[in-house]
Amino acid sequence: MIMVTNFQKHLHLVAVTTILIFSKPGYAMPEQALVPGGVAIIELDDYTADTQITFNEKKTTIFKHRQSWYALAGIPLQAKPGVYQFKIRQRDGSTAVNTVDVQGKKYQEQHLTIKNKRKVNPIKQDLQRISKERIRKRAAKNHWSDAYPDVDFIWPVTGRISSIFGLRRFFNEQERNPHSGLDIAAPEGTDIRTTADGTVIEAGDFFFSGNMVYVDHGQGLISLYAHLSRIDVEPGDVLRRGDILGAVGQTGRVTGAHLHFAVMANGVLVDPLYFLPEQQPTAQLE
Ligand SMILES: [Zn+2]
Repeated sequence: MIMVTNFQKHLHLVAVTTILIFSKPGYAMPEQALVPGGVAIIELDDYTADTQITFNEKKTTIFKHRQSWYALAGIPLQAKPGVYQFKIRQRDGSTAVNTVDVQGKKYQEQHLTIKNKRKVNPIKQDLQRISKERIRKRAAKNHWSDAYPDVDFIWPVTGRISSIFGLRRFFNEQERNPHSGLDIAAPEGTDIRTTADGTVIEAGDFFFSGNMVYVDHGQGLISLYAHLSRIDVEPGDVLRRGDILGAVGQTGRVTGAHLHFAVMANGVLVDPLYFLPEQQPTAQLE
C-alpha cells in the first residue's frame, strides 16, 4: 500500500514538473497543422549541418528546440489534401522519407468595402508600380539565410483580431487573393515589436501593403508587417525579439488602422497563429 502511494505521489510530481516546463515562456514551439496554410513539423534523429531536407521539393526550415532538431515546412494554401513527403538526405548519401497526411480545410469568405477604388481597380500607372513591387516582394519572400531561427515568436502588437488568415476576399464585391496574414486592430501609432530575432531584408511603401517591413529569422522563416504609419528600421538592421520596428497605421488598401502580420516558411505564406503564443500579453512588453 505504502509503495503504491509513493508511486502515485511520484507520478503527481512528474506531471506537475512537465506542466511547468511546457508552460514556461521562452520554450514555445510552432504548432503543427496539417492543412493548407498550416505547417508540417518532423523531429530529426541524426541532424548535422550537411543534412538536406526538402518538402514539396523546397528546402525546409531547420530549428532546434530543447536539445532536439526539427524540420518545418509551410503547406501552401492551394495545396490539395493528400500525402506529402519530407525527403532527408544525409552527408553519406543515404536517404529517408517521412510522410505527412494533409487534410482539407474550408476557409470562409470576407466581403470588404474599400473607399479608395484605385486600391481595388488600379489605373495603368499603378499597375506599373505594382509589377515592380511584386518582384521585390517575391525576392523578400524567398530570401534564404543559413542561421538557425529562434521560433519563439511574440505578438507584435496586442489587440482585437480583426481578420484571420486564409479568408477568401472580396473587395467591393470583386474576388482578390485570399487573406495571407493575421490582422490585429490597434490604434494608429501603436508600437510594433519584432516577433523574434532577425534581420530586416526589405522595407518601404507598397501600393497595396502600404508601409511594410520584412524580417528574416533564418532558414527561410520570414515575418512581415504591413500598413504601418511609420517605419523605424531599414534593410540590414539586426533586431532582437521585442525591438520596435515601426507603428500601426492605415496605409495601403485598408478599411481602418491595424497591423497585417504575415509569416512565411520557405516561400509559403502560413497562418501566423501557429507560431504565436495562445494568449496575447495583457500588458505592453518591456
Ligand atoms: Zn491583412
